[in-house]
Amino acid sequence: MDFVLPLVFVPGLAIGSFLGVVAARVPLRKSVVRPGSACMSCDAPIRWYDNVPVLSYALLRGRCRHCGVRIPPRDLAIELVTALLLVGCVLAFGVTLKAAAAGIGCAALVVATATDLERRIVPNWVVLPSAVAVLALQTVSHPSPVWAIGAVGGAGFFFLAALAYPGGMGMGDVKLALVIGAMLGRTTPVGIMLGLLFGIVPSIVLIARHGSGARKLAIPFAPFLAAGAVVALFAGEHILNAYLGIL
Ligand SMILES: [Zn+2]
Repeated sequence: MDFVLPLVFVPGLAIGSFLGVVAARVPLRKSVVRPGSACMSCDAPIRWYDNVPVLSYALLRGRCRHCGVRIPPRDLAIELVTALLLVGCVLAFGVTLKAAAAGIGCAALVVATATDLERRIVPNWVVLPSAVAVLALQTVSHPSPVWAIGAVGGAGFFFLAALAYPGGMGMGDVKLALVIGAMLGRTTPVGIMLGLLFGIVPSIVLIARHGSGARKLAIPFAPFLAAGAVVALFAGEHILNAYLGIL
């Protein structure tokens, strides 16, 4: 199995690089293919040899070759996180349809995390096709209604939450829960509960700092939901069984 990991990690970096472009351009309705990458500061086109994931960043010491401006570590972070998640999927599920479903789900979570942090949106063109692909792959891989139930149940939960607390949860969270539910199936509640738990901590910090005015400072929730979903993807069955064992 060990030999598979570099075969996943290196392309995973390249996929992560592409996801960074998707997250930057899809919300602006720009092509993800043209034009090629350019420096955000001096507009100099970035040559292929300066655009190798991680390696170029290290060689250029995180600076633009032309103007020397610091390149934000955003792309580096997206590349590394994506590659690690894809390696995790293959380690956990082997070279299977389930790993493909989990990989697509993780890719959607990465993009949604970036767009929610940067622009406070979760783009339809990323999450909806991902949800369909993940649902199809999971259902073919393990024929069962649990994947569809997870997707509809997860999205339904956040839809009701958005109706109950407008300004808290948004439609972005509803759409993201479609992907998460299709990916997690019966462990969807574990993923959602973990996401809510992770999101509570910064909410409490905000309220402590800003008092009741913090309610207006709606925090992007997709990153927490994504983190909860990733933990549930790899450990959800253990968590669920431990929980059911306590009862
Ligand atoms: Zn530059």
